[in-house]
Amino acid sequence: MFIVMIASECAPVAKVGGLADVVFGLSRELEIRGNAIEIILPKYDNMRYDQIWGLQPTHYDLSVPWFDGAINCTVWFGMVHGRKCFFIEPHSADNYFNRGTYYGANDDTLRFAFFSKAALEFILKSGKRPDIIHCHDWETAIIPTLLFEVYKYHGLDHQRVCYTIHNIKHQGICGADVLEATGLKRPEYYFHKDRLGDDFNPTAINLMKGAIVFSNFVTTVSPQYAWETRFTDQAYGLGHTLHVHQYKYTGVLNGVDYDIWNPDIDPHIPVNYNQLTIEKKAANKSALRDRLWLRKDYKPIISYVGRLDAQKGVHLIRHAIFYALEQGAQFVLLGSSPDASINADFWQLKHHLNDNPDAHLELSFDEELSHLIYAGSDMMIVPSMFEPCGLTQMIALKYGTVPIVRGVGGLVDTVFDRDYSNKPIYDRNGYVFHQTDHAALESAMRRAIGLWRDFPGEFYKLIVNGMKYDYSWNHSGDKYLEIYEYIRHK
Ligand code: ADP
Repeated sequence: MFIVMIASECAPVAKVGGLADVVFGLSRELEIRGNAIEIILPKYDNMRYDQIWGLQPTHYDLSVPWFDGAINCTVWFGMVHGRKCFFIEPHSADNYFNRGTYYGANDDTLRFAFFSKAALEFILKSGKRPDIIHCHDWETAIIPTLLFEVYKYHGLDHQRVCYTIHNIKHQGICGADVLEATGLKRPEYYFHKDRLGDDFNPTAINLMKGAIVFSNFVTTVSPQYAWETRFTDQAYGLGHTLHVHQYKYTGVLNGVDYDIWNPDIDPHIPVNYNQLTIEKKAANKSALRDRLWLRKDYKPIISYVGRLDAQKGVHLIRHAIFYALEQGAQFVLLGSSPDASINADFWQLKHHLNDNPDAHLELSFDEELSHLIYAGSDMMIVPSMFEPCGLTQMIALKYGTVPIVRGVGGLVDTVFDRDYSNKPIYDRNGYVFHQTDHAALESAMRRAIGLWRDFPGEFYKLIVNGMKYDYSWNHSGDKYLEIYEYIRHK
């Protein structure tokens, strides 16, 4: 099969969070199975250009109709760790992708609507005829609508679309200007509630809603999140649309790319180890302490790696730092936030803890350091308010770092409480709490730290149980291929 992925992120070249890992990891898995994959991305000025090989322009003068005129684009091609990637560079005064950041501009919906339209225009004009177009999240959510309402009539009539929701909170709610810009001419038609019309704001369209309506298949990133978005308030207003389209909606658990996230071969950690050589993990703990100026003492290291966003339970992350210190543990945080107030809050915290030899807060995005933290920590917290899938807990498991998570979304599908899960003891791999208050988090952390300190042999078994889990793309790759085959022949 020929599959084109269109997305706003791809690891490691343009990464903000899990979306990037999924676009890269799934593409790689599909390619290993003999499919042809191409990835289309915006050409951001702030990408990791050091992660692209042989970047060169391949298509000049791609003219993309936009409002009443057109924007001229150059399309670049380069290899990103073996994946074929095309990067779209528009030439206009809007400078859509020369903003120094990926997201957070006032015109984000226009920026990514432009990218989506340009990607389809590129497919059409370059003569590519993929079997499947796979698009992701709100940024590329206008693609199914554009494909089936416009491009189908210009030559893209055999393409099928799979759309994946990585986070339903961000839906691309915007005004009629996006319709006008992309050439979706009849606003009254698109504003209809059965199409893109937002269910709560009569003057807005909802791009994600349109993707659910128009795609041939819709997935989200874990079975539990698929359930939560259908049957709880987690759908942020799209529950009804998902109900109407339930026959083509399912949850497929994200995989982890074990070619990148594997302590046995990881080039970013000083000492490699696996299930049979767990004792070597200690050397990574020591290296992590050296790197972050933590004292060497008989204490567990508890860490957090992730975006600092309300979704991630920032109040619990903050509390976990103080509770860990109170319990005689050390704490390491690696996170960044585009939100000014959250950022300021954590910078203040960082200054407050500056001289503490048991805590280190690294407020930046640092892919290489994240590997050392996964390898060098004893436990990792993921206290999310909601979590579509969550990759950090799965990566932690692979690195023998025991996850302490809130029982929500994909965390429910991947972490099983050592004391309370109904799985056999040898299949339990971490700690789970449910409420969103301090007491709930504390009880799980207390149990984890207690086991580490008082029953090291049992803690060791828990590590082994976790490392045994296979959360690679192996199973999920199968599921996506089944979905592609299904919609191809429908
Ligand atoms: P989300 O997609 O909501 O951000 P996930 O858990 O699915 O969360 O994926 C997070 C990914 O981003 C992981 O690969 C994690 O290691 C990485 N990551 C998040 N924040 C940082 C950071 N500040 N530095 C390095 N890597 C980070």
